[in-house]
Amino acid sequence: MADESSNDQPQREQHYRRNNYRRYRRPPHKEQSQAPENQATAENVPPEGETPAQSANASQQHPQQNFQRNHVDISVVIPLFNEEQSLHELVDQLKNALVRLGGRYELIFVDDGSTDGSFRVLRDMYFHNRRIKVIRFRRNYGKSAALMVGFQRAQGEFVVTMDADLQDDPAEIPSLINKLKTGYDVVSGWKKKRHDPISKTIPSRFFNFVTGLLTGIKIHDFNCGLKAYRRDVIKNINVYGELHRYIPALAQWQGYRITESIVQHRARKYGKTKFGMGRFFKGFLDLLTVLFTTRYIARPLHLFGVWGIVSAFSGFVIDVYLTVDKFLGKTSLTNRPLFLVGLILIIVGVQFVSIGLLGEMITKGQHVEREYSIREILK
Ligand code: UDP
Ligand code: MG
Repeated sequence: MADESSNDQPQREQHYRRNNYRRYRRPPHKEQSQAPENQATAENVPPEGETPAQSANASQQHPQQNFQRNHVDISVVIPLFNEEQSLHELVDQLKNALVRLGGRYELIFVDDGSTDGSFRVLRDMYFHNRRIKVIRFRRNYGKSAALMVGFQRAQGEFVVTMDADLQDDPAEIPSLINKLKTGYDVVSGWKKKRHDPISKTIPSRFFNFVTGLLTGIKIHDFNCGLKAYRRDVIKNINVYGELHRYIPALAQWQGYRITESIVQHRARKYGKTKFGMGRFFKGFLDLLTVLFTTRYIARPLHLFGVWGIVSAFSGFVIDVYLTVDKFLGKTSLTNRPLFLVGLILIIVGVQFVSIGLLGEMITKGQHVEREYSIREILK
């Protein structure tokens, strides 16, 4: 079999050096020799419909054009922050899993401002493996931003996301993809048996329970890094801040069909978790953001108005009752603390309705992100 990747290394490396001549340091000789010239691996498989000779010729072109010419079925997007020890193992496991699915895949690593040697490791793997793409952030922007940029670049019909710390098992990818093929748009992993410390699993259960309740989405594990999507979903979803936990919710509200699939979970082998307890507090604030910006952005009066009317109306009923009571001669209003409660409810209610109306005025005057998601257009 023709060995495409044997040509990749000098070409990709030359191209990289041309563009980064000031920053580039040649990798140690030892690491270069790790990629045997004639090894026939998954990344060497020529694209479908091409003879090995054609492939070999094509690889003489510019490496970028060469890469884009490849047909990609599956894109795996992997955000990472300081995970240098896991990366070689991860790529080996991914190759094993993806070869079984036909071998036409791309691995998009998004280095979210790592301060260890992660980027160096990725760059060396990139030189040897044409299926690897690397995007490097200038600083740590967070997992959502990393996923978003990976989604923008993904070319595959199916897009899988996973963590880089080896806690997600790449061997699960085929079953997730098979589930997508039965007609779903999103398959979310469910770490039924988690291998994490109890300080993480218990708050996580609570988080999943509340999120399920407020979003109305019936999945057990919102925070699983391993998920699979049809391409259409990720191209239509805007993930920012720390909204990556709510991608299933954002997808379902747009009308995509989502389901979950039990996946193996493993204990962290190297390094440590990048999220502390703060994640749960921030997570709930993000949930409010998600609810507000997706469900009510175009009609803020529906959110504020309903509660405003409920509050004002109950205050009104209380105070009318007390006033009638006074005229029937029983007690004076100043001795009834409930009268104050009624007044406060009326004031708060009026304020809520006013906030809702102000919100309506603001959204009318501004471009609001479209509320609907189109599945098909027949022209
Ligand atoms: N990660 C990232 N940017 C961050 C924090 C984390 O890209 O700011 C990556 C991290 O490298 C890993 C994944 O997101 O690949 C999940 O992080 P982690 O394993 O720390 O989360 P946990 O498993 O504890 O939920
Ligand atoms: Mg992890």
